Amino acid sequence: MTWSDEGYILGVNIYGENSSIISILSKDHGHHKGIIYGGTSSKLKKLIQISKKLFLIYINHMKNMTKKYDNGEITIEWKPEVCIHSAICFKGLPQVFDPRQKPWIKQNNANTNDIIYQINQCPSKALSFYYTSEEK
Ligand code: SF4
Repeated sequence: MTWSDEGYILGVNIYGENSSIISILSKDHGHHKGIIYGGTSSKLKKLIQISKKLFLIYINHMKNMTKKYDNGEITIEWKPEVCIHSAICFKGLPQVFDPRQKPWIKQNNANTNDIIYQINQCPSKALSFYYTSEEK
């Protein structure tokens, strides 16, 4: 899906060390949230302020995409389209879930129980898992 529209910034939150999550109300396409990498830089900070009007171009490359990360015991699944960028996973287990890194999930950086606990905190259910031995 692709669309363009006008919108206003409703909220800006710092995300990680140098990124921002902005909340936007568009004229014809409702409310959206998105990450702006480098959004806390002095150049971008001036543009990303509450009530600023923006011209928006929305391109969804990730429709129905599921990314998988196998640690040998479980396979973590992440659905980018479902993720609401709450940062709960990042705050809870940053050595595994770090959007500043590529890939952003490092499935071998914590034990499986800690990862499962964190996955179960995901408010949108963008994160899920299955035991790798029960391969889907
Ligand atoms: S906790 Fe879930 S919704 Fe929040 S950023 Fe992580 S994957 Fe996305």
